[in-house]
Order: sequence, then C-alpha cells, then structure tokens
Amino acid sequence: MSKELAEQLNEELKNKSTQEIVGYFLEHYKYSSALSSSLAAEDQVLTDIILKKYKDAKIFTLDTGRLHPETYDVMDATNLKYNIKMDVYFPNETDVQELYKTQGVNGQYESIEKRKTCCGIRKVEPLKRALKDLDIWFTGVRAAQSVTRTDMKLVEYDEAFGLIKVNAIIHWSEEDVWNYIKENKVPYNKLHDKGFPSIGCAPCTRAVKEGEDIRAGRWWWENPEHKECGLHKK
Ligand code: SF4
Repeated sequence: MSKELAEQLNEELKNKSTQEIVGYFLEHYKYSSALSSSLAAEDQVLTDIILKKYKDAKIFTLDTGRLHPETYDVMDATNLKYNIKMDVYFPNETDVQELYKTQGVNGQYESIEKRKTCCGIRKVEPLKRALKDLDIWFTGVRAAQSVTRTDMKLVEYDEAFGLIKVNAIIHWSEEDVWNYIKENKVPYNKLHDKGFPSIGCAPCTRAVKEGEDIRAGRWWWENPEHKECGLHKK
C-alpha cells in the first residue's frame, strides 16, 4: 500500500457510487479490508452496504469501556439483523489500570493532554491492533461533520496506520444518511433521537441544541480544532 496507489484510486473512483466503491475494494481486498464502526448512523449505513456485498466482511468496533448503554443495544441489534458477531476490541487491561492510577477516572476533563492519553489507551492502541495486517480501512467519516474533516478525501493513504483509508461516504449529507437508514430499515443508535448527532464515549458526548454544530457535543469543553481522538489523523 502506498500514497501513490491511494491517489490513483482516489482519481479513478471519485465519481463512482458508494456501492461501486465498496464493491471495488471488496473485490480486490476481500480478506484484508475492514470497517471500523463506532455504531453511529454513518457506520450503520456502511455496515449495511458492505454486508449486502459480502456477508462475511470484517466489521469491528472498539469497546472503550465507557460506552453508552444505547450503543451496546445497537451493537446487539446489528448482530441480530445481519446474523453476524461483530469483532470487538478492548483496551489493554494494564494500561487502563495505570490510567486510573495516574489521572483518575475522569482526568480527560482536566487537560487536552490527559484527554488524549485516555483516547490513546482506550481507542488508538486497540485500533492499531484491529488494523494490523489490513490493507484497506473503511470509515464512515463525512467531510461535513467538522472542521477537522473538510480536507479528507474519498481514498487516502493513512501514514499513522500504514494502509489505505476509504472514506466511502465522505460526500454524503446528514439527510442522505438518514434517508438510507429509513429506506433500508437499518438499526440505529437511539441516542440519535435524543439530540446526539455524533456519539462517542458517555463521559465525552452530550446532546446538542438546535442550530449547534453536529460535533459540538463531542469533547464540548475543547476548541473545535482539537476534536479528534487520534483515529483520523491527517
Ligand atoms: S472519548 Fe473520553 S472516555 Fe473515551 S477514550 Fe477519549 S477521553 Fe477517554
């Protein structure tokens, strides 16, 4: 996998439909591709599109240990609907013990550094394990979600993880996502009905008010340009 290949594929596929893009990568990288799902609406759309193309595709999620109960409910509903058992990656036990010793249960509120340490242990390290040996990483990232995502491309090389990242619904609108969910009866996280457009860990996600940015409820005590957890570095 290389940056050149990612750029070439981005050019070749940029005008194709999401189904065609997913189909291309599943055809060429069937056994070395996976979707990382947060179980939010965008990832549920992609889960549906991917599994309709290849029912044994790898779909995985990161259980940080601090998820909302509604997130486990949608994980269960997704497993039942598609007759799968989603792969679940957990943080390293000794790292979490050390985290509690050094910065307590909710140290993430005290500084960006402490918040990133928590995300590093609970999300980034498990993600590294999950992506190991893969060539293609499907994500449900959309450009309109935040200021940190506007420059992302459909297909890009991810330096941090050394593989090709396919942001297959990068140009979808929020309306496109919800139309797809309704038309295809895709299970979704009930927190979306309670004012949560973006869903992460329970202590770091809140509902947003009408007119607020859709990522305003994530790490709401930080500035917008810091609001990534290290999964989607550029
Ligand atoms: S989102 Fe919050 S609780 Fe979850 S890993 Fe990051 S800092 Fe920790």
